[in-house]
Amino acid sequence: MTERIYLSSPHMSEEGYEMEYVKQAFESNWIAPLGENVNQFEKELAEKVGSKAALALSSGTAAIHLALKALGVGEGDIVFCQSLTFAATANPIIYQHATPVFIDSDPETWNMSPDALEKAFEKYPNAKAVIIVHLYGLSADIDRILEICQKYNVPLIEDAAESLGSYYKGKHTGTFGEFGTFSFNGNKIITTSGGGMLVSDDAEKIEKARFWATQSREPARHYEHKELGYNYRMSNVLAGIGRGQLKVLDQRVAKKKYIFEFYKRELGGLEGLEFMPVNEWNEPNYWLSAIQLTGDIRPIDLIEALEKENIESRPVWKPMHLQPFYEKYDYIHLGTDVAAELFENGVCLPSDTKMTDEDLHRVCETIKELWAKR
Ligand SMILES: *Cc1c(COP(=O)(O)O)cnc(C)c1O
Repeated sequence: MTERIYLSSPHMSEEGYEMEYVKQAFESNWIAPLGENVNQFEKELAEKVGSKAALALSSGTAAIHLALKALGVGEGDIVFCQSLTFAATANPIIYQHATPVFIDSDPETWNMSPDALEKAFEKYPNAKAVIIVHLYGLSADIDRILEICQKYNVPLIEDAAESLGSYYKGKHTGTFGEFGTFSFNGNKIITTSGGGMLVSDDAEKIEKARFWATQSREPARHYEHKELGYNYRMSNVLAGIGRGQLKVLDQRVAKKKYIFEFYKRELGGLEGLEFMPVNEWNEPNYWLSAIQLTGDIRPIDLIEALEKENIESRPVWKPMHLQPFYEKYDYIHLGTDVAAELFENGVCLPSDTKMTDEDLHRVCETIKELWAKR
């Protein structure tokens, strides 16, 4: 059997940077709690993205949760949330007993449609927060969305879980809103096996989030708690992996871009196959190379043909407004349901940075054969 090609699997540095930092944690016995790796990882990531403050957490989901809490989102509040995303974007709205209203995507960005957002504000002028996502490393239409948020005086959270290394007009995604959130889950562009980061230019709010993430433990000798707390901090061992991974982030972005361009070159001529949109104001990290199939070959045909060759691919995210758990909430769109279409026609091609040119040819040949057999 040929070796399996993965969608996106962990890729530690060839230099062994991660092991060095993990070793330092062992040698200093700062396995827990916290320690130098956590402090430095926060500092290094904040510098990388150009944000004033950062908080390392146990997951990207925890980062979104604390962002909502820091903005005072609570029971009965309405939060506008991009529908086309992973459930982790929306779940923290429910953790806070708030009400999500889902917003459709723009076909030009695949992310939140500014016009649909404007329409949502007309219906719910008292909404408390907006969460946008930069899917697959593509950035949302940030300027237009910020303009609308400012008009209604509502804070913006950017779920940048998939867009570490992506820039919008030269500035890093996740640094435009009140808060940005990143994830270091196993298949993200860099990983700590599991983890997340909350960033903001408001250092005070980050300190408050740090307090909540540490069980809201008051500074007293005994255990004193005046507020509800969470156990959300990142381990010092895992932060060591993160520091090592951050050193190779630029290399990973370059390889992801190479993969996307390889596919474009090899598959660009196939009828009914279109690539995700890269706008001129966007420098994506190309986390996953996603495509749309608009002809008679359906996503399931492609996914199954690849699976037969031991190649992993995946549908595009199923929108939240189509999820059984979330379908009772309101959904704002402009007539056509763009998110549903992107889901129905979407496939994420293998985007593993460990792939060789030979592997990439194997993927492309399998796809071309499917077209030839039509
Ligand atoms: C991965 C991901 C998250 C959550 O990350 P975890 O670290 O797994 O909690 C949130 N939003 C999006 C869009 C993601 O892809």
